[in-house]
Amino acid sequence: MSLIRLENVRKIYQTGEVTVQALKGINLDIQKKSFVSFIGPSGSGKSTLLNLIGCLDKPTEGKVFVNNVEVGLFNRAESAAFRGKNLGFVFQNFNLIPVLTVYENVEYPLLMLDHLPLKERNDRVLRLLEKVGMTDQKKKYPNQISGGQKQRVAVARALVTNPQLVLADEPTANLDHATAFKVINIMQEMTNEFGTTFIFSTHDPKIVGEAEIIYTLEDGAIVNSEIKKEKK
Ligand code: ADP
Ligand code: MG
Repeated sequence: MSLIRLENVRKIYQTGEVTVQALKGINLDIQKKSFVSFIGPSGSGKSTLLNLIGCLDKPTEGKVFVNNVEVGLFNRAESAAFRGKNLGFVFQNFNLIPVLTVYENVEYPLLMLDHLPLKERNDRVLRLLEKVGMTDQKKKYPNQISGGQKQRVAVARALVTNPQLVLADEPTANLDHATAFKVINIMQEMTNEFGTTFIFSTHDPKIVGEAEIIYTLEDGAIVNSEIKKEKK
């Protein structure tokens, strides 16, 4: 089943006199339960592409479908509601809330959802912390844990609402290699266990090898796609 479909998507940024064609006609079809990477040099359009799929921005031309819904037609409120319900995000800079503990950071997206009984909330947070190996650290604050640990917490936070899709823009850019591999492997385990589709971007060829499907971007176009494992 197709989870994401892009049809001839173009994105043009216009700032004053300067026009940038950030995406030049992207066609893409990503199945459910996939583990996907976008690789390409800085400026190739990875973030722009992730932002369109994540309902954070709209295409200048073409169509973006997530779950057969054309998300490019949403207004702001509809985009926000759709994101809250269906998507999780992981960022390069972790974006944890400094005044909240590890536990509270993971719990936070659940507080935005419609009423969830306290017990269920607690169970979900503890389950995810366990999955990413952060149970022991749950009372710590972000400034008391390492970068790799922060990104594990961010992965748990992205998954706590059971989204179908998690988008991670350069999630390993601020991590050393060994730690980066661990974080990517946790994401892959989550795909296998929960059926979550993960898309991460990177400019690091060593990390990208972990993905099942790799799309290479260059100058706003997909110039290569490599599928290592077909999804049933
Ligand atoms: P990547 O994530 O691969 O580094 P981006 O998607 O951020 O690439 O950028 C693609 C191109 O679009 C670049 O030329 C970049 O300078 C330009 N760009 C990105 N965001 C904006 C913006 N908000 N306004 C103007 N130009 C932008
Ligand atoms: Mg980027």
